[in-house]
Amino acid sequence: MKKIVVATKNEGKVKEILAAFQKLPVELLTLKEFGSLPEAVEDADTFEGNARIKARFYAERTGCACLADDSGLEVEVLGGAPGVHSARYSGRHDDAANNEKLVAELQKRGAVESAAAFRCVLVLHDADGTELISEGTCVGRVRQESRGAGGFGYDPYFYLASGKSLAELTVSEKQAVSHRGAALRLMAAQMKERLT
Ligand code: IMP
Repeated sequence: MKKIVVATKNEGKVKEILAAFQKLPVELLTLKEFGSLPEAVEDADTFEGNARIKARFYAERTGCACLADDSGLEVEVLGGAPGVHSARYSGRHDDAANNEKLVAELQKRGAVESAAAFRCVLVLHDADGTELISEGTCVGRVRQESRGAGGFGYDPYFYLASGKSLAELTVSEKQAVSHRGAALRLMAAQMKERLT
């Protein structure tokens, strides 16, 4: 069976990717199974650029096909920030600190809420050097108020039109509406086509 490494150290992403690919005829591995690997330097200025860097970086180090995810939050009143800098918006790789910074930036602008979108780009870098790419978007609003204890990252501050935050959804409910869920479905379709 084809081996695919889920090339991310973000446990929230790993959980969602493994759940989405459960039924594919592939053997899924995580980076943990390869010991202590270095971090890829994500210095591109687009989600696609960073996802390609990560997928290739880990494919070269594991010798397996690698699936990388680059994603982030774009907030209208913040001119599209934090965007590709979402993981370290506060200067630290820390969800609580990043959410504090998000709320502080909304407060500075007197915005109780703002239109926002999550974006996700997935890249599968195969052992032969070929790439599959897919994208997904989730449109909603960010608010200063948080709700829910599920998900990860900015989920408690991101609200859908239904009025629920992404952190109030189960993994499968989030998958049905999220940027990553959409990108994973498109990636799974491309992989199925390749494998059959
Ligand atoms: P990356 O690992 O450089 O792609 O960073 C992605 C960052 O964007 C994460 O650390 C989160 O802060 C944020 N993010 C991406 N996807 C989600 C999501 O589904 N929910 C909440 N935050 C997310």
